[in-house]
Amino acid sequence: MYKGQKSVRGGIEDFLCPFTDMYITQGSLGSFSHQGIYANDVRGKVAGIRYTYYAPCTSRCVKTYPETGQVMWQSTSKVRFANGRIDYATYMTAHDNTMDAVVGQVVDQGEQLGNMGNKGNTTGVHCHIEVSQSKDTSWTKNSYGVWHFNNEYDLDDCYFVDYTNILYGRGGNWRTTGKVPVIEMSGANALDQIIYPGSKVMFDGIFQVDIIKRGTNLFGNTKLTGVPFMTYYNEKARDYHWIPLDDFTEVDQYGSPVGQDDVVYGGQSYVINTNIYTVQEIDIETNSAKLILNGREIWIFSAFLKEI
Ligand SMILES: [Zn+2]
Repeated sequence: MYKGQKSVRGGIEDFLCPFTDMYITQGSLGSFSHQGIYANDVRGKVAGIRYTYYAPCTSRCVKTYPETGQVMWQSTSKVRFANGRIDYATYMTAHDNTMDAVVGQVVDQGEQLGNMGNKGNTTGVHCHIEVSQSKDTSWTKNSYGVWHFNNEYDLDDCYFVDYTNILYGRGGNWRTTGKVPVIEMSGANALDQIIYPGSKVMFDGIFQVDIIKRGTNLFGNTKLTGVPFMTYYNEKARDYHWIPLDDFTEVDQYGSPVGQDDVVYGGQSYVINTNIYTVQEIDIETNSAKLILNGREIWIFSAFLKEI
């Protein structure tokens, strides 16, 4: 990436390769200091030069290790990785001789994160980087005695290499954002509506009340949540898959008003909802949106929401 580069699609930052030029001097699972871990040592165009690298996503400094010029960073929101996963990024950079990061400091995507260096390391100037696709900050030793994160992925599954000159990529499956299109959902069934956090949406359709949670006004609907009926029945469904009835109105299966006796039966009654909600969060992997209904967070398939 270049200085100041940003990449945001569907309201989510793409996790970019922090280097303008990438020459990998030691790859993942390397036989030297990367035994059993997914980490890359990267130098720039000319060996020995302490090139600047940039924040792959908007990141907060979680921990510093001044004796090795090392910093643990975490994305401030979920990001999109090169393998298509969307999750938090927790990552380590090391060997910056001029490391001046402060815990709590936030660096915007594209701004300077550090400089390549050789602090705490006897080999040449480089940046050591490893990435966990999770919020887990545990830093543990493996059977080779090498420190690493949980949920580490190889770097070609982590960062997008838009505007990175790959001088020596060690045969990795390096992808640009163009190779990982964002799935855009639309209409009742089709796939072309883009829902972002902050989008105003309505429920699109007539929904059966598949089951009522005993002693509550919460109902389950297999279509809206993807949760199987038996999971609801056995009360194994997550809290955010039980939907408050308050904003729903009883109708018949064609959407016409019925008795309106406020008595809704699991497996028999149909309901509609004409309220407008603000999308709180999206999850592209499951194509779901988080809404707040009557003070309760619920996750709904985006295909049954229409943006207004
Ligand atoms: Zn290394």
